[in-house]
Amino acid sequence: MAEILSLAGKTAVVTGASRGIGRAIALELARRGAAVVVNYHRSAEAAQAVISEIEAAGGRAALFQADVSVAEQAAALIAFAVETFGDLHILVNNAGITRDRLLPMMSEEDWQAVLDANLKSTFLCSKAAVKHMLRKRTGRIINIASVAGQMGNPGQTNYSASKAGQIGFTKALAREVAGRGITVNAVAPGFIETDILQSMPAGTLEAALKLVPLGRLGQPAEVAYAVAFLASDAAAYITGQVLGIDGGMAMM
Ligand code: NAP
Repeated sequence: MAEILSLAGKTAVVTGASRGIGRAIALELARRGAAVVVNYHRSAEAAQAVISEIEAAGGRAALFQADVSVAEQAAALIAFAVETFGDLHILVNNAGITRDRLLPMMSEEDWQAVLDANLKSTFLCSKAAVKHMLRKRTGRIINIASVAGQMGNPGQTNYSASKAGQIGFTKALAREVAGRGITVNAVAPGFIETDILQSMPAGTLEAALKLVPLGRLGQPAEVAYAVAFLASDAAAYITGQVLGIDGGMAMM
């Protein structure tokens, strides 16, 4: 691998890395040489399998259970990474949920749960990580947003708001910390083949695929490759950006 794309010697935290896109990101960062903290919330067995897969390939990884929408747990996750691997260079805010309902049927709880898991978690983990990165004058924060935050999606006012919020957060923080050698970017996946798509109403996915110029679902690894690039030295001059990984669905 070209040295500029290598992550050897770096430490990364990936939130929600037990399944789907987070799992693929953890595997790819580890493959490129990073020591990876695999965070999970409920899927302990799946998260342990990610650790085993990284270690079997000769990589370094550690497991940490935390609900990243809770301040103390998010802070403990970041502290664990620094204690375990001695530093923290890369934070990937990937943890996320959906609770889809048309607005008249959406409860306040549906709204809050999604905003907390997707957006508040990004604030909490970034705040804890940035304190460390500011002292070190280096760091990479990568937020996993969504095309829903750019285009909107019916039945997903809560989710779309949380993802648009992550995009605004990315740009504001990028400006705040640029002078200290820290970059902050977002990726905006389209329809990626993971468990999260199973909650979509029947027929919605088929209709949505008609909007994808490349005409297929994306794979978790295809998001992970972009995240690994943004985490690498090759992306040192990129900050405050939103990279679409959506088969051409949202051409901004
Ligand atoms: P997924 O397969 O459902 O996985 C979600 C992951 O998030 C799981 O590892 C889950 O952990 C974790 N998680 C949820 N709430 C958490 C919390 N409070 N604390 C810690 N971890 C938590 O979803 P995915 O499709 O991979 O989605 C990953 C990210 O990509 C999300 O932010 C999602 O919005 C975004 N995204 C996905 C798509 C898509 O089409 N798949 C498109 C655009 C954006 P446990 O299983 O351990 O509970």
